[in-house]
Amino acid sequence: MKLYEPCFAAQFHCLAGACPDTCCKDWEIILDEKTLARYRALPGVFGDEVRNALTTDAEGDTMFRLTDGHCPLLSSDGLCRVQLSLGEEALCDTCRAHPRFYEEYGAAKELTLSISCPAAIDLLFAQETPIKFVCREDGAPVSGCNDLDPDRYFALRRARDTAISITQNRALPISDRLSLLLLFSVRLQKLIDTEAYGRLDGLLARFSDKQALQRALARAKRMQSKPSAFFPCWMLLNNMEHLTQEFPRMLDSQSMQRPQHVFDPAFDAQWEHLTVYFLWRYFLKANVDRRVLSQTESCLFHVLCIAALFSCQDVRDLQTLSTLASLYSKEVEHSDENLRLLLRVFDRKTLSWKTLLSLLG
Ligand code: SF4
Repeated sequence: MKLYEPCFAAQFHCLAGACPDTCCKDWEIILDEKTLARYRALPGVFGDEVRNALTTDAEGDTMFRLTDGHCPLLSSDGLCRVQLSLGEEALCDTCRAHPRFYEEYGAAKELTLSISCPAAIDLLFAQETPIKFVCREDGAPVSGCNDLDPDRYFALRRARDTAISITQNRALPISDRLSLLLLFSVRLQKLIDTEAYGRLDGLLARFSDKQALQRALARAKRMQSKPSAFFPCWMLLNNMEHLTQEFPRMLDSQSMQRPQHVFDPAFDAQWEHLTVYFLWRYFLKANVDRRVLSQTESCLFHVLCIAALFSCQDVRDLQTLSTLASLYSKEVEHSDENLRLLLRVFDRKTLSWKTLLSLLG
């Protein structure tokens, strides 16, 4: 299969025992059938220990029972005892793949390194130049189990390239780039709704042309004349499913008043990379549900919330930003329930693109 991935993906290495966090806490990992069968047949004392650590929920899913928020098979020096005793191939599919997430679109597969992993976010934030994506053949057969609407898929792929170029236009301040991204997605949603793919070239050209961008920005500025409060975003974060104890504690200690400048310009490259990361991961999901505007609004919501939470921190350095963005991802991105809630909020216009636009102003 053709595998598309960020240009730095091959440099990723798990920090194992040196990881400042660990992916072996906070989450209950559901075991796949093959791994479960292997664990059930494991001989000896270690086999008994593994089986004693398993629990099955009401839906019939089996997972490791968390002990003090940690996987019971995590050793005191931060290493996985299954991997130490039996090797990497004995890990379940989820543990072996983490933090790699794959999406399949027809004969193509896309890889994202989840920023919930400290090593992955450090790699993302260390990039000095705009992020590029590369393609290679991964040798895996095409699964053929995902149906695509080819017209919509290719339109969205080209549109995502433009969305990423808008975000990476370093001639403009980051808030202007994100405002343009919103206006672009509003137009794109109309085109997707009416399946008017013949008009795509015109739309992409308009959002690549300097003068047309200036006109769109002037329109955005007029709409931004009334500032919005962050409170609805803070409320939404508060009402989400919480996977960590740390995140709601942090929310409680911060009122998320609207900072004067949402985006600290010292971290312009990081705001850009975060936006590109979210666009890469979620924009094409509109191929299934057509909700390209809601997906883009969700991406911008993530970046805005991370920036606003960061602005409330006492120490505002790169390490604080990495830890905060990682925690946010762990809490919001790793919960399907939270991601669905966000899409619903934008679909129903409980929060609208106009609110996001005024928060960017
Ligand atoms: S969070 Fe990332 S670096 Fe840390 S143990 Fe998991 S995969 Fe390795």
